[in-house]
Amino acid sequence: MPDDENMAGMRWGGRLPRSSWLEVSAGVLRSNLGIIRSELPAGVGLLSVVKAEAYGHGAEVVARAAEGVGASGLAVATLDEAARLRQAGFRLPVLMLMNPLESEFEWYRELDLIASPGQLTTLEALDAFGVAGGWRPKVHLKINTGMNRYGFRWDGVSDWLPVVRRLGAVRVGGIYSHFAMSDELDKSFAELQLARFSGVLEALEAVGVGCGVRHFCNSGGFLDLPQAHHDLVRVGLLALGIYPSRVCRRLEGIAPVLSWKARIATLQPIAAGEVVGYGMRYTAESPRVIGIVPLGYADGFPRVRNEGEVLVGGCRVPLVGSVAMDALAVDVTAVRGVRVGDEVVLLGRQGDEVVGVEDLARLKRSVSYDVLAGLRGRLPRLIGA
Ligand SMILES: *Cc1c(COP(=O)(O)O)cnc(C)c1O
Repeated sequence: MPDDENMAGMRWGGRLPRSSWLEVSAGVLRSNLGIIRSELPAGVGLLSVVKAEAYGHGAEVVARAAEGVGASGLAVATLDEAARLRQAGFRLPVLMLMNPLESEFEWYRELDLIASPGQLTTLEALDAFGVAGGWRPKVHLKINTGMNRYGFRWDGVSDWLPVVRRLGAVRVGGIYSHFAMSDELDKSFAELQLARFSGVLEALEAVGVGCGVRHFCNSGGFLDLPQAHHDLVRVGLLALGIYPSRVCRRLEGIAPVLSWKARIATLQPIAAGEVVGYGMRYTAESPRVIGIVPLGYADGFPRVRNEGEVLVGGCRVPLVGSVAMDALAVDVTAVRGVRVGDEVVLLGRQGDEVVGVEDLARLKRSVSYDVLAGLRGRLPRLIGA
């Protein structure tokens, strides 16, 4: 917990102090990744997906922990994310999950990245770029097995295979696909995608085209579809201690890595009939003590009104009025001895009470991924034990 000394020190990671912050437990992260690693049979690799700052947790701290448990690579979405990993000194293979633009090829070379071409024009252009520049681009072929976002179609092997066989510079080191729905009880579409992928692999094998490591699973697939593990699993969310759905398999010992905290900025004792905040969305029915918490929707907190709870003094207290850009109000009348500067937990544990990312997802009418990826860079991230 930051005290005044820490507020001025490096624990703020080079940022100036702020009375709302995220805490990332490096120990829990290592433990989660260790559990995931130990669930995998020997010979199945772990690719740590750290796109979007590892869903708000900080790509570097997650990548470091992944490296520590022997992950075989990292995956990100943008060149900037990849560059930051390289700048931080990571030498692990980095898989780019998006189809590259031709204007980006130079950076793939510079940063030694694995491209995921999913269309012929890209693959041919990358190959030509490699031939012209005396460089052998690394590639994992992305296969569209029915999600219809990226990838070579599973039922179009005869269209793209001849191009793969003619490649002059590109080295195909892997082949993969992505589940549209791996974490719900109904696995029928996942099974169909899996069968389509197997069909592609068989077609390639039949003509002696080797495609290196095969992979398909995200967190949901890793948990619930062991038959889809192939050579490598791509895990993002689960490493952070969050499950992709309510129904997927649970692993003993997996725990959330992130907490979101703040300190009460001011206390406003109000009389019956008074209102709080923009739009006068809350009117006190009796005398109340309102605590103002210095964060809001500009930090990624859902813009709700009179809905949701946070933890203060070990109690769950309700939000009142509308969440503003930099402030939200809570009714702390029931918290005995509450004071300005008291710690508020927006996400995580305080005493016996917990607010989970699922609770914020419900407020946001969205999923955990969206809540975490929506946490803004203006929140300082403190890395703890
Ligand atoms: C984001 C992503 C993942 C990781 O998914 P989780 O559910 O967070 O484990 C895996 N594969 C691809 C292609 C992705 O885009």
